[in-house]
Amino acid sequence: MKSYDLCECGAPLRLMERETPKPQGSEVLLKVLAAGVCHSDLHISDGYYDMGGGKRVQLLDRGIKLPLTMGHEIVGEVVAGGPEARGVKGGDRRVVFPWIGCGVCNVCQAGEEQLCLAPRSLGVFASGGYSDHVMVPHPRYLIDIGDIAPERAAPLACSGVTTYGALRKVAATMANEPTVIIGAGGLGLMCLGIHKAMGGKGAILVDIDPAKRGAALKAGAMAAIDGNAKDAVAQIVKLTNGGAWAVIDLVGADQTVKLGLASLTKGGKLIVVGLFGGEITLSLPVFPLRAIALQGSYTGSLGELQELVALMRAKGMPEIPVRTRPLTDANEALADLRAGKVIGRVVLTPAAH
Ligand SMILES: [Zn+2]
Ligand SMILES: [Zn+2]
Repeated sequence: MKSYDLCECGAPLRLMERETPKPQGSEVLLKVLAAGVCHSDLHISDGYYDMGGGKRVQLLDRGIKLPLTMGHEIVGEVVAGGPEARGVKGGDRRVVFPWIGCGVCNVCQAGEEQLCLAPRSLGVFASGGYSDHVMVPHPRYLIDIGDIAPERAAPLACSGVTTYGALRKVAATMANEPTVIIGAGGLGLMCLGIHKAMGGKGAILVDIDPAKRGAALKAGAMAAIDGNAKDAVAQIVKLTNGGAWAVIDLVGADQTVKLGLASLTKGGKLIVVGLFGGEITLSLPVFPLRAIALQGSYTGSLGELQELVALMRAKGMPEIPVRTRPLTDANEALADLRAGKVIGRVVLTPAAH
């Protein structure tokens, strides 16, 4: 099997060839039809997260081992299963839930494997989709995509379930009050489309890029606000009749978190999803006095991905631009993403070449 692997942080991926493994036990081997190129792959290949104030978290200190085949947004076609892999057969097309935990701790048993303290996430801690084949430890991580095209279904595994997981945290107010979404790139448009499919009342998108604001309006946002405008908070407060009940920050930078907190009404929630990085100083009395909440959201659970795929099969996928590229373009695809040249999503299609 051929894969493009991260062998050294900060360096281009390298083509590696290995013998294609045979599935053991409950394992399932898939041929990779589509592998989305995600922003977090840039963080992984850089080797660190910016924690603000010059501090960095080194990912190699967090259990990531090189060489690593990245790629956590995977759709594959089942090739073979081990003797204990039930419920799948050759040719089945499945999106892979990549946020796999140890499977035995209380968190995993409760169905929140993405929060396990001993993660085995595909494309992060275990081999992922930048390859012509991928091994999945158990068929329960495979979800039938029906007639959704593989390159459109792949992003559901990260960009989709991440925004769905964040939206679920504000589900109590979503049907009756507008939701503010900061960041109108690929993740923002995914969030907007899923918000609509979930029956959300209206979404206010915030972005500093006029082209992205235009795309958000075209995709059905009720308003699109320039995050750099001096009156950005006042505009949000006006559009929400006094402040937002729910803000989802898909950027996660100093300015966006500050903007999000300032835009909340009493009792409102800010959900931070983005990993841009930075740090802010918080005035603590505002939390009790305004009864606001600041919560992080990391990907989503297996159950949430199952719900999301069912929702998308019933209501249709958001119209997000998707560009497919061969696996051999993996380095160019990452470079384009880093340079801000990608609109929507780039998806590698290893099986097509
Ligand atoms: Zn991702
Ligand atoms: Zn666990």
